Amino acid sequence: MNPEKYNRTIRLLCPTCGCPDFSYDEGVDETIQIMTCASCERTFNKDELIHENSENIDEHLSEIKKEVTKDFTDEIRKSLRKAFSGNKNIRFK
Ligand SMILES: [Zn+2]
Repeated sequence: MNPEKYNRTIRLLCPTCGCPDFSYDEGVDETIQIMTCASCERTFNKDELIHENSENIDEHLSEIKKEVTKDFTDEIRKSLRKAFSGNKNIRFK
């Protein structure tokens, strides 16, 4: 299994206007990134923005979970097939 294929980019959207473009500024502390909405100029730090987008993020996560489950089933089927391939009594079509 290649976990990298489940990587995806989740676009964070401005909760005020829905615009996906932000400019980034380093805050006073470099762990705090200040993001400014390109459209309505509302500012957030990253945690706030992630919090505001949590519904969207959850949706992505449950999609990924579904894909993983499906792939995992395929993977098991494949390895079963391999495990039994030397056995003449069991055939897979
Ligand atoms: Zn905005």
